[in-house]
Amino acid sequence: MPDVKSAARGLYINGGWHPSRSGRLIEVVDPSTGAVLAEVPDATVEDAHACVEAASAAASVWRATAPRKRSEILHRCFELMIERQDMLATLISMENGKALRDARSEVAYAAEFFRWNAEEAVRITGEFGIAPSGTNRIIVDYQPMGVCLLITPWNFPAAMATRKIAPALAAGCTVILKPASETPLTAFALAALYEEAGVPPGVVNVVTTSAPGPLTAEILADPRVRKLSFTGSTGVGRLLLAEAAKHVISCSMELGGNAPFVVFDDADLDAALDGAMIAKMRNAGEACTAANRFYVQSGIYDAFAHGLASRMSALKVGSGVEPETECGPMITRKAVEKIDRLVSESKARGARVLCGGEALSGNGFFYPPTVMTGVPDDAEMAHEEIFGPVAPLYRFETEDEAIDRANNTEYGLAAYVYTRDLARGLRVSSGIEAGMIALNRGLVSDPAAPFGGVKQSGLGREGGQHHGIAEFMEAKYIATSF
Ligand code: NAP
Repeated sequence: MPDVKSAARGLYINGGWHPSRSGRLIEVVDPSTGAVLAEVPDATVEDAHACVEAASAAASVWRATAPRKRSEILHRCFELMIERQDMLATLISMENGKALRDARSEVAYAAEFFRWNAEEAVRITGEFGIAPSGTNRIIVDYQPMGVCLLITPWNFPAAMATRKIAPALAAGCTVILKPASETPLTAFALAALYEEAGVPPGVVNVVTTSAPGPLTAEILADPRVRKLSFTGSTGVGRLLLAEAAKHVISCSMELGGNAPFVVFDDADLDAALDGAMIAKMRNAGEACTAANRFYVQSGIYDAFAHGLASRMSALKVGSGVEPETECGPMITRKAVEKIDRLVSESKARGARVLCGGEALSGNGFFYPPTVMTGVPDDAEMAHEEIFGPVAPLYRFETEDEAIDRANNTEYGLAAYVYTRDLARGLRVSSGIEAGMIALNRGLVSDPAAPFGGVKQSGLGREGGQHHGIAEFMEAKYIATSF
């Protein structure tokens, strides 16, 4: 079992554990029971200043550390995460509620960012060329940006942090991580693991707060901070972009999604259902890439609807830490209320519930796997992230119609397409406005591929060959003649 007390022992600043200067604490709640699991410090702006001070003091030594050495430390982080996979997965399940099997997958995915970026750290190259005029040479050097503020959400407490920390450290930057208030324990447990792997004091700092707006504004106002990397909702992303604009800080934004899942008549039905279960039910639907709208062509609509309802209703709902659980609780009671509101609105507008459809009673924050047919295109759930185990189905007739309706959203993160016709699959993938397309697959996330969105889903990419690390480096051009 994870040592929750140790994970909650303080703010992690300059390689040490500190209480908040306010003495105040934030409660971390177990979503399976509603009970308080632990308390973590509620940082003040003075604590935030101490983080910037520590990250800034460590910056020059870390950027000068040989890439091979940085790579070895990152690789050690990967190894330790895999060694502690069960402990970390249990901690994630306890504070986030997700099923243990999802938590184990998350730890493996999160660790991969260290392995991938350990490999990236020793592949940072520059450019050398001749000016078209022939008068001089052009040298381009890639340098670490410096001190970075990283802000992460609760739905992947490990992976959203390592997807930023690993490339930042590989590039030679130092960081301050502000994890979500609902899931800080994983961030602190990982900080202790980085220290054990050899990450020097001040290179990674972790701060928790109940007032993220004022605290992060204070950090961004410090001229030593040069980068903001945020994962979370589009609404908070917009606020942070405005705050960063005041200081002209480079921003990477991984924001909300509203993924379409398009199934054509010629799709392999079983494969489409398998993919739908992954795309919808990984993390009980609490994923930015979660299928939010199922567009199913008329000829396969009824078979797909019944197949999905039968698989969804068979899922075992329960506490995340129970090994047989397949769908854990939602993160908060408020999240359950939001899902309930979206489902009720669709029901009132004529949608039919094939399974689920009502919040479960009890102390935990549970919502059952739900499938709905006949959902109107202008239902609220067609335009908002459901962020829960609810699959609404929409019928379509033609390829052009499917593309138009898939694109009828301000978001553009992920999309899923199922067809046996490869040419059509590629045509539709090209027509859908999204940063990532899963063609005949239910999962897109891969540390080796560029993750990110278009439209209101974000700016920049994480992971991928050089994309993720490039977000933490700046090009320096040197003109020279010889
Ligand atoms: P959120 O409410 O936007 O919070 C994300 C983080 O921002 C948390 O650490 C939060 O701190 C902090 N925050 C909140 N208000 C802030 C402010 N005014 N200034 C600075 N920081 C602030 O999102 P969430 O509910 O945690 O996560 C779910 C959202 O994240 C969904 O929209 C999902 O699609 C998105 N997401 C996107 C990706 C992607 O890669 N594109 C991945 C995962 C999740 P507190 O916890 O203290 O409020």
